[in-house]
Amino acid sequence: MATKTINHWIDGKAYEKSAERHGDVFNPATGEVQAKVAYATPSVVDEAVESAWKASQTWRSISLSKRTKVLFAFRQLVDKHQHEMAKLLTLEHGKVTGDALGEVNRGLEVIEFACGIADLSKGEYSENVSTEVDSYSIRQPLGVVAGITPFNFPAMVPMWMYPIAIACGNTFILKPSERDPSCANFCAELLAEAGLPPGVFNVVHGDKVAVDRLLEHPKVSAVSFVGSTPIAQYIYETGTRHGKRVQALGGAKNHMIVLPDADMELAADAAISAGFGSAGERCMAISVVVAVGNAADRLMPLLKERIAKLSVGDGFDKASEMGPLINKAHRDKVAGYVDKGVAEGATLVSDGRQLAVAGRAGGFFLGPCLFDNVSTEMSIYKDEIFGPVLGVTRVGTYDEAIKMVNSNPYANGVALFTNDGGAARKFQHEVEVGMVGINVPIPVPMAYYSFGGWKASLFGDHHVHGRDGVHFYTRMKAVTSRWPDPRHRGVDLGFPTNK
Ligand code: NAD
Repeated sequence: MATKTINHWIDGKAYEKSAERHGDVFNPATGEVQAKVAYATPSVVDEAVESAWKASQTWRSISLSKRTKVLFAFRQLVDKHQHEMAKLLTLEHGKVTGDALGEVNRGLEVIEFACGIADLSKGEYSENVSTEVDSYSIRQPLGVVAGITPFNFPAMVPMWMYPIAIACGNTFILKPSERDPSCANFCAELLAEAGLPPGVFNVVHGDKVAVDRLLEHPKVSAVSFVGSTPIAQYIYETGTRHGKRVQALGGAKNHMIVLPDADMELAADAAISAGFGSAGERCMAISVVVAVGNAADRLMPLLKERIAKLSVGDGFDKASEMGPLINKAHRDKVAGYVDKGVAEGATLVSDGRQLAVAGRAGGFFLGPCLFDNVSTEMSIYKDEIFGPVLGVTRVGTYDEAIKMVNSNPYANGVALFTNDGGAARKFQHEVEVGMVGINVPIPVPMAYYSFGGWKASLFGDHHVHGRDGVHFYTRMKAVTSRWPDPRHRGVDLGFPTNK
């Protein structure tokens, strides 16, 4: 059987020329190659940029209501096709159907937010800043902007970016992850059906070659990136060196502090859901539970009990709660961390390394793993594992727990479990992390707030979506205006002062 090829989407249509280089797209549940994805050369990227550049000359002047109409139509289409989109996610990423639908729906909320662009992009107006002189500010699009996205949310993370960028009057080039590329093309088709003009949204597939061309292309004004920290830093440094506005969201190591007064059943449910949902391949996954005082002694049996009941399997199987990892190399890397944790002296309480899924021998599965007695020198504490490995660290006091979180170089998400309002208030005030949950393990902000971490979890000034998203994709212009009046005549070389 011929393998399907996933090609770029440029200038409002599927790209027809065949590529010189390709990557394999796996079905992670079976381990089989199910498609090839084209890798863009610099000249293919240039074609996409030219198309986006041409389209930007008219799209920036299209009325707000016409832009909004396209977004409303797109919102309807995504809602209507959410099950097909979720199916693509499970096929290429491996996540279970319910999780995939959840992802599409969180993306949908950003489209809904972008439908309010007429209100969101309003400027300010001051009358009589000087006598009969008015001043006002307007927000204008940047031109061509690019988005480079990770494998773990192939629908939602691009939707953090392009609905707002396009609503603001920019044109967009998406370089999705090469590991699960189909959803990007599916969305491009829906945008075209919604009435988006050719060139306003383009997809180039590929690897570093495509990314580097986007980073250096003089007609690309801004780059949004989401992915691992080393690449985020590279994107930020290279993009800004080429004069672009850049927001680059990186990796994470999210802690969940559990105080002794917490509802332990609730805390155990939360740690398991946030640690093993999407097989731990979420930037907001909990990877370290910091148990204070005697909390660990009560929590450990509850965690162990829940892990024993977790069902791991093909994401399409209704019984599965956790699917496979993205590919074999990543699966083996995560399993290697479990080996290292044992060697470094942590106590392996649940071991998922030998898990076998019936009928899916080739799949990239790893069962849930739980460590106790993890210390901050161990690699399983220090590194972002990005898999189903949860560690429990024991500390004596609440202050030690906060200090541990604040000493970590990553600062994406964090959670506190307690029933003490004062402790919660201290936490939100003192913790040095971008997104904070109080009895909420995955505190992903809604579309109308902004999403982003601190420190090594974000390079740049702007978080994504919410008001920060609108600000990132627009630049401010301040206008000072006076309508000619004979009373104003007369040369005056003095510096203009307010009269
Ligand atoms: P990744 O950094 O490997 O890849 C992200 C993107 O960068 C992909 O499109 C990829 O093609 C491209 N890329 C990879 N290597 C490159 C290179 N050397 N030069 C230029 N471009 C390159 O990340 P991933 O493995 O796809 O995703 C997982 C990572 O993303 C995790 O670290 C996770 O924490 C992070 N993530 C962060 C957030 C957040 O909001 N902070 C959200 C989701 C995922």
